Amino acid sequence: MPSVDVAAARARIAGGQIAYDALHVIASCGDLRPGLARVLDAFEVAGILSNDERRSVIAGEPDVDDLVSGWFTGDRVPRAGNRRLARQAAIVVANALLRAATERVGAPSTWRGWTRVVCPCCGGSPDIALLERGGHRTLVCARCDAQWRAPRTGCLGCYQVDAPVLARIENPALGYDLVMCNSCGRFLKERPRRGFESLLVERAITLELDLAAEQRGLRI
Ligand SMILES: [Zn+2]
Ligand SMILES: [Zn+2]
Repeated sequence: MPSVDVAAARARIAGGQIAYDALHVIASCGDLRPGLARVLDAFEVAGILSNDERRSVIAGEPDVDDLVSGWFTGDRVPRAGNRRLARQAAIVVANALLRAATERVGAPSTWRGWTRVVCPCCGGSPDIALLERGGHRTLVCARCDAQWRAPRTGCLGCYQVDAPVLARIENPALGYDLVMCNSCGRFLKERPRRGFESLLVERAITLELDLAAEQRGLRI
């Protein structure tokens, strides 16, 4: 269970600061290797990797803390198969721990007045935007799944709102738009909230959009 000082976290949000330090929260959870092994087991059951690949990843003794901090600092997805699979599993572990930490901070009403682009809880960047019926967007933190109202329309990095600087590639099969800013290099995956499934599933089916954006040198 991640350790979070809830009162201090809420006071920080009220003062416009992020609730907790994500690396401290992860460190409070101790050894992440058993969690990584369980996620790799689940990946095998789900057919994401083979039995041989799972054994090979474990035999490589991946440094989970290193993979998680690389994810936090926006490392590119590794090319090598094993390291890539280990990173993918480490992200599932860290995401689950941070989601639990954010749930302890409170309900989304705790950060209703939040007007920044970074996550009110962990300071991460959003990777998904949900289009609400009222016309505004709700941002979803890529690290901890916190949701908050987008402070502005268009690019979150630089205020661009018009094509071709803000490019939109529709993917009807996935039900997502990949929105990319050619000015500041940010991207976001956008879709209507209606029909939205669990974030774990949504991220798994849209992984190809992230890779396409990364290949263009973009980041969330
Ligand atoms: Zn977050
Ligand atoms: Zn921009």
